[in-house]
Amino acid sequence: MKYRKISIFTSPEGIEIVSGALINEGILDIQIDNPRDVLDMIQGLKPTEWYDPDQIPATEEGPAKIMVYTHLDGGEEAAEVAVYRAIGEIEDARDRGDFGEDIDLGTLEVLIEDEDDEEWKDKWKEFFKPTRVSERIIVKPTWQELDGIDVKPSDIVIEIDPGQAFGTGAHETTSLTLKHMEDYLKPGDKILDVGVGSGILAIAAAKLEAEEILGIDIDEEAVRVSEENYRLNHVEDKAGSIKGDLLLGLDDELISWADMVVANLLSNLVIKLTPSVKKYIKPEGIYISSGILTEKEDMVARAIEESGFKIEEIKYDGEWCSIAARLI
Ligand code: SAH
Repeated sequence: MKYRKISIFTSPEGIEIVSGALINEGILDIQIDNPRDVLDMIQGLKPTEWYDPDQIPATEEGPAKIMVYTHLDGGEEAAEVAVYRAIGEIEDARDRGDFGEDIDLGTLEVLIEDEDDEEWKDKWKEFFKPTRVSERIIVKPTWQELDGIDVKPSDIVIEIDPGQAFGTGAHETTSLTLKHMEDYLKPGDKILDVGVGSGILAIAAAKLEAEEILGIDIDEEAVRVSEENYRLNHVEDKAGSIKGDLLLGLDDELISWADMVVANLLSNLVIKLTPSVKKYIKPEGIYISSGILTEKEDMVARAIEESGFKIEEIKYDGEWCSIAARLI
């Protein structure tokens, strides 16, 4: 859908005045971008897995922005006129000294941009290219060709359209898990994939000749997307997905069912999941957990050992690691 975005640049002090003037003009649906909120948020955060202190944007305060969106259906001109009228009123009031002598309202510049959210939504698709993620596994976005990749007969090609679900194979945590699966999965294995996302690991398992795969995800959209990707890869006879919170409430038939449990989650979820893995995995079964920052490796490894597993191998990529363990 095409729409017009009208941005008004102001200062953090100006936000209330500008939004008030817009509301007076009948523009009620506005979005405020206040750099001070970001600063407050960053200062209030503790380092967690969810943000990397080195990646934080500059902490200098930039201008605040107020955005007005209108559909390009003829109403956009009225919205523009109303915005300019509101700005005119503010400038007059400022020049009269209505807001005090020292008030800084920023530039009050107006920027008009026409955007198409369909275009934007699919922009990322250009950057997702076919990639060899492990010795034999190639991940191919459905809308791309396998150009430039030398595909050998023994290679496995996974077709993926992740939609809104996580798992393109491009993330280190996914490729580390795939590498471990390639090393440990045996034909005929039964697999539980906790946090199935796009279904990428489940499909890899099917193509590595696992017999049956059950994917679990707390997100209904991931359940839907993964099932679509199973069909796309012709593995829907072997792989299925259900909605669930980790392994909670699983059918008793699945007790000691899995030859392998894979879980590409984050450390805290892996730690939460680990004690229940033992119940669903066969003796000597393999438990691959990933999504673990190297600084959390010792903590997660300890939790895995305490639940009766022996660590077989830890693989690393950048700040991430994946742990392969065997039930003893
Ligand atoms: N397996 C994919 C996706 C991993 S992303 C890959 O390796 O690329 C992690 C997934 O775990 C997400 O899809 C998220 O929805 C799911 N998830 C998060 N918390 C969960 C929980 N408590 N139980 C089940 N799934 C969960």
